[in-house]
Amino acid sequence: MFRLIFLGAPGVGKGTQAAIFAKNNNLVHISTGAILREEIAKGSELGLELKPIVEKGELAPDGLLVRLVEKRIAEDDCANGYILDGFPRTLKQAIALDELFTAKNITLPQAVSFEISEENLLARLENRRNSGENRVDDTIEVQKNRLKVYKELTEPLIDYYKNKGALICVDGNADVEEVQKRLINVLS
Ligand code: ADP
Repeated sequence: MFRLIFLGAPGVGKGTQAAIFAKNNNLVHISTGAILREEIAKGSELGLELKPIVEKGELAPDGLLVRLVEKRIAEDDCANGYILDGFPRTLKQAIALDELFTAKNITLPQAVSFEISEENLLARLENRRNSGENRVDDTIEVQKNRLKVYKELTEPLIDYYKNKGALICVDGNADVEEVQKRLINVLS
């Protein structure tokens, strides 16, 4: 039974790794970015509120994300385990998640940090700009802002989980299959 948190800079490849690992291990892949993009695409009231935030590469409000994740992991399909991809992204979110687990009396999740060189990261982000995926938050300016936001607000979570003895690192400087092998290795 896995309850995992995937950490890493935008473009590091954690979403790709999460999708493969979740499928092969019957886990739910919970990508908060994908959930927010879905709301925006639906044009719901929430989506309209989120649109300008996500399009600028800023973070959506902590309280909203915490409620969203709390609700999602309480659904039946999550009983076998899940991967949180893109959450927590701030210290406040991480603390709220810990409180949630403590209140439910279940063991805290394991964090997996994907690490790649700056050079590879920039190359992957450039690829994504040209990939035809056409995400509004994948223009060069917004990618730059997302990296800045990541360094300021999310990177400190690596130390947070390290200090709890709940951090595993995976070297992401390899192709998709190789990184997946490394991930399986560290989790088994
Ligand atoms: P990537 O995988 O490329 O890093 P995501 O798809 O996870 O990007 O997220 C896209 C955007 O959705 C973020 O830039 C942010 O605006 C919003 N978002 C996703 N998760 C969170 C979160 N946990 N807290 C706040 N905002 C979030």
